Amino acid sequence: MKNHLKSDKGPFGSVVGANKPIGQGFYRLSLGFEGPGAEAFAKTQPGQFVQLDLADTSLPPLKTIPEGLRDAAGRKILLRRPFSFSDVTVEKNKTSVSILYGVVGPASLRMTTLTAGDLVSVIGPLGNGFQMPKGKKHALLIAGGMGAGPLEYLAKVLTADFPKINPVAFAGAKTAKALPFEGRLDAISQQLGFSLAEFAKYGVKSLVATDNGSIGFAGTVTDCLSQWLDESDLPGRDTILYGCGPEAMLAKVARIADARKIDCQVSMERHMACGTGLCQSCAVECKVAGSSETVYKMCCTDGPVFDSREVVFRL
Ligand SMILES: Cc1cc2nc3c(=O)[nH]c(=O)nc-3n(C[C@H](O)[C@H](O)[C@H](O)COP(=O)(O)OP(=O)(O)OC[C@H]3O[C@@H](n4cnc5c(N)ncnc54)[C@H](O)[C@@H]3O)c2cc1C
Repeated sequence: MKNHLKSDKGPFGSVVGANKPIGQGFYRLSLGFEGPGAEAFAKTQPGQFVQLDLADTSLPPLKTIPEGLRDAAGRKILLRRPFSFSDVTVEKNKTSVSILYGVVGPASLRMTTLTAGDLVSVIGPLGNGFQMPKGKKHALLIAGGMGAGPLEYLAKVLTADFPKINPVAFAGAKTAKALPFEGRLDAISQQLGFSLAEFAKYGVKSLVATDNGSIGFAGTVTDCLSQWLDESDLPGRDTILYGCGPEAMLAKVARIADARKIDCQVSMERHMACGTGLCQSCAVECKVAGSSETVYKMCCTDGPVFDSREVVFRL
């Protein structure tokens, strides 16, 4: 079959560097590239993604598979799966990318069995990524659950390339255990102001919210953001919001941005088959400027990052 991809998107062979469990059902996978793959991924923007081929990756032993996933576990993995980058590092002729992932179904379950030295076929980098802020002084990064990954990489790029910008990260989940971070997330770290190591290593302050109040702000990450904005009184024109997480959360971030006249970019998730615009399965309904009409854009090629004013949220 003719390869419809431009050669700068692969498929590239990658080698697993590590695949580390970081909590209940969360892992950090690192993949290394050499040659053309190293060159392609060295230019990765935060918010872009890859399509991983996990068709031949083994399942873990049945007894270790969470009960809720046992029925789905045996499904064949026909399609590649999309994942964003939580980090990219370039050293001489080698590029390594990290992926923060949660185990939710058959493909991500298989990912947990990858070990150092395994080979994984990767297409990417795909999509548009976050636009870097022009003339902004404050960047607020709002993560829901697994949405933290691409915002970690954004924090790295913002602090390295835009030293005049002051980024603050907000991370939320239903409970403390559902937060995909390493290290201490307990009462003592709470008193210390919840510096998540994943953001602190770039000098970025972070706030945590849990729906059940088990740590941090008791409530949603968007309520935490609203309260913080009320208290800080930042001028809207100097500020930009970046959101990544469940669509209901993104809809609320978009409403907060709209009400306060703050620019806002959201990374949308859709079920994706090809990731390259061919199958048209990942439509995002978007407004047409100056009209009441809407059009469908492709999450994989027009996005996954959209200006929040453009997206029609039906939530
Ligand atoms: C651009 C993009 C970037 C992503 N980045 C990451 C990432 O960095 N880390 C991460 O853990 N996950 C990420 N995802 C989601 C990831 O692709 C899915 O979790 C993965 O495909 C699940 O595959 P599976 O076979 O394990 O489960 P499946 O059986 O495919 O799905 C399990 C459950 O998750 C839901 N689901 C799967 N994919 C999506 C989706 N795209 N949108 C909404 N619901 C979905 C299904 O409806 C089902 O309920 C990203 C998705 C997109 C579109």
